[in-house]
Amino acid sequence: MPDAKRNFIAGEWLEGPDTIENRSPSDIGDLEGVYTQASPEQLDTALDAARAAQAEWAAYGLERKQAVLMNIGNELMARADELGELLSREEGKPRAEGRGEVYRSGQHFTYYAAEILRQLGQTVQSVRPGVEVDIKREPVGVVGVISPWNFPMAIPAWKIAPALAYGNAVVWKPANLVPGSAHALAEIISRQDVPDGLVNLVMGSGGGIGQALAESAKIDAMTFTGSIPVGRGIAAAALPNMTKLQMEMGSKNALAVMDDGDLDVAVAMTLNGAFSGTGQKCTASSRLVVHQGIHDAFVEKLVDATKAMKVGHALEEGTQMGPVVSESQLGENLDWVEKGQAEGAELACGGARLNMPHEGYYMSPGVFVNATNDMAISREELFAPLTNVIKVGSYEEALATVNDTRFGLSSGIITSSLARAAHFKQNARTGVVTVNLPTGGMDYHVPFGGRGDSSYGPREQGQAAAEFFTTMKTTYTAAGTPE
Ligand code: NDP
Repeated sequence: MPDAKRNFIAGEWLEGPDTIENRSPSDIGDLEGVYTQASPEQLDTALDAARAAQAEWAAYGLERKQAVLMNIGNELMARADELGELLSREEGKPRAEGRGEVYRSGQHFTYYAAEILRQLGQTVQSVRPGVEVDIKREPVGVVGVISPWNFPMAIPAWKIAPALAYGNAVVWKPANLVPGSAHALAEIISRQDVPDGLVNLVMGSGGGIGQALAESAKIDAMTFTGSIPVGRGIAAAALPNMTKLQMEMGSKNALAVMDDGDLDVAVAMTLNGAFSGTGQKCTASSRLVVHQGIHDAFVEKLVDATKAMKVGHALEEGTQMGPVVSESQLGENLDWVEKGQAEGAELACGGARLNMPHEGYYMSPGVFVNATNDMAISREELFAPLTNVIKVGSYEEALATVNDTRFGLSSGIITSSLARAAHFKQNARTGVVTVNLPTGGMDYHVPFGGRGDSSYGPREQGQAAAEFFTTMKTTYTAAGTPE
């Protein structure tokens, strides 16, 4: 058994009371590593260290802070192949997706490195003569970060980079399914010119260390990405302390395919939106709302293309879709396949467990046809390589169907009509809208977030992140009269 990789707390690598194994979902015989779990006392140490470090960090000069973020970003980009392999090995996404995610994570850091030099305030006139008003942003303080397994590097990066850029300290609990990427990012941060305790890695279970972090009165803010039930619990835990919250949770994103759309574009965007990351994305295209004028041709082409997808080991050449992340997630997916059929949808292809040379959590990508928007498979987030085709008679019906959900993260339309595209952009009730593009795969310099049950609190990414990671201060100065 390899030595356990440790938590990074108060500037030191610490062993904890127990350990977990990190096995590849592509091959459960492949043990990537063993990782320690933090104790509640160690979490407390991390929180106290973060408080002390935050004051020191906020007082650093801008260029010194900027250099730290640039170094982290540049190292991530330079090591994208190596760290992408680690990410793909532990999470299961194909090598190209893992590499791309690590590179993108680096870009989050270099983008926020630049933002450090762009933290401008405002000076305005007071309604009172002789008084000057300044409005500026200050760090919120100590930020708790709880991240999920589906983007093991990018989600932590888009939370930790702005947290640091705006002058905060971080206590970070990553998902226990993907400790390798978390440890690698913490290791890069540990070599930077930062105060001890500025970023603390506290690997541990969600119900234990995660819950304790959410409940702690020692954090000023909590940023979370994951499931709605856990999000609700975090909100309840945060409320007694009035902890500032930012949460990204599930969704049920729809891609509307119009009769005037390009069929090849529609199929290509669907395959990307529905099956990249094995469909385990909060922006996945899990409802395909298809105009009757293009329905049959679209379904035929989509089903053929889906059947042709190569499912395999994340690190194998040619793999287009890797395994599902875990046995329990695979079990849930297969249950949804049964439920969907039981409620009247027809499985046109896929949706079955696959046996491979390596024992892993493989399933074939599946397409339901003859689905309706009131079926449970159309209303709940499945987080699976499954998508539902819902036939509609008009653009108006398509738009109404897209909006008929309690979620509201992302939506898209495939159309060659400028008028329909413009109308859709105005009327889709989601935080992100795409035209002739997949519903997932966003830029890093613009806001990301949703409506309804999908998100809670201020947007992530781009300059919008300042809203969550800072607090505003308004100062009034009586200028007086010169002698
Ligand atoms: P969870 O919401 O359980 O996990 C997300 C993070 O929260 C993990 O770090 C987890 O830790 C932690 N966590 C779990 N329980 C608690 C708790 N009580 N208090 C504080 N933190 C906690 O997601 P799952 O991994 O179980 O995935 C289940 C479903 O969630 C998916 O099928 C999908 O529908 C949705 N999901 C959505 C994501 C998104 O991007 N919007 C991302 C991931 C999941 P740990 O895992 O170590 O126990």
